Formats: sequence, C-alpha cells, structure tokens
Amino acid sequence: EGMRELLLSRIRDVSDYPQPGVMFKDITPLLADPAAFTALTDALAGVCARHGATKVVGLEARGFILAAPVAVRAGLGFIPVRKAGKLPGATLSQAYELEYGTAEIEIHAEDLGGGDRVMVIDDVLATGGTAEASLELIRRAGAEVAGVAILMELGFLGGRARLEPALQGAPLEAL
Ligand code: IMP
Repeated sequence: EGMRELLLSRIRDVSDYPQPGVMFKDITPLLADPAAFTALTDALAGVCARHGATKVVGLEARGFILAAPVAVRAGLGFIPVRKAGKLPGATLSQAYELEYGTAEIEIHAEDLGGGDRVMVIDDVLATGGTAEASLELIRRAGAEVAGVAILMELGFLGGRARLEPALQGAPLEAL
C-alpha cells in the first residue's frame, strides 16, 4: 500500500495535453525519483515472476523505459514492439483502430519462440487498443501470452473490457 501511494504521488496530471480536454498522466517525475522507479521496477518484475514469463515486451515509447529495467531485474529477455517502420529486420505488423484513424505496430518475430511466455509492459492502459494489438503480434509470432502489466489503468476509457477477449484468460495487472 505504501508503494501505491509513492507511485501515485510521483505521477503528474497535465491538463489539455496533447490536446484540449485530455488529462495526460505524466510519469517523468516517477522516473526521476530513484526510490519510486526502483519500487515500480521491482513490482513489475514480481508480476513477471508470478506469472512465469520468459520474455518481456515493451510498447514504444514509455513502455521501453519500464520494460528494459524489469527485464534485467527479472532475468528475462527484452523485446521492443515498435511503431511501423522502425525495426530493421523481418517484422510482423498489426494495425489497430484509434479514436481517429488507425495505427500500426511491429515486432521482430524471430526473437520470440514457441516456448516463450510473454509479459507485455506499458505505462498507461487507455482504450486498450495498443495492448490488444501487441497480444495479437505475440500470438502470431508463435509465443504464449503470460499477461499484461501496467503502471496505471484509466478505467473510464474501458480498456480492460476491450482487452478481455484478447487476454484469453491471461491476467491484466495494473499497479
Ligand atoms: P491505448 O492504446 O488507447 O490503450 O493507449 C495506450 C498508449 O497510449 C500507451 O502506450 C500509453 O503510453 C499512451 N497513453 C495514453 N494515455 C496516456 C497518458 O495519459 N499518459 C501517458 N501515456 C498515455
């Protein structure tokens, strides 16, 4: 419970960013505080261990910042899921719906294998579209989904409900 309070106290609400009417959750104060960043890393690494993950996927861009130290802490490999056009090797791509328009993310499939159980890590679950598409990529790469671990869930956007079918029983853990 102390950890939750610490993390919450280091998240900054920025109104009307990146556009009017949006309240942006800014995690940079948390990253700048070593006690909070360490507590977050340890908590996410604990989620990976509890659910038997063998690999960690981080979602560009803030997911990279969290997933990389979690991978090292948990002794697991790190795999980036990037926006289309950023990965140099052979990729799998997945398009998904945004509020206005579509987006596309990619993964290097060769870095995942049949025996892998993958934990997806990101900072914020909003509509759930990005996480949902990443689960699709992981399964298409032939790996199993261990779960989704995020710092914070914006409950009013319904991301958990959208993600539910794609989770196929795997856990969604929001700190
Ligand atoms: P979703 O696909 O709608 O769930 O959006 C999630 C993605 O948008 C994540 O990769 C988040 O990093 C980012 N995102 C959405 N809202 C916020 C926010 O308030 N703060 C930081 N990131 C956000």
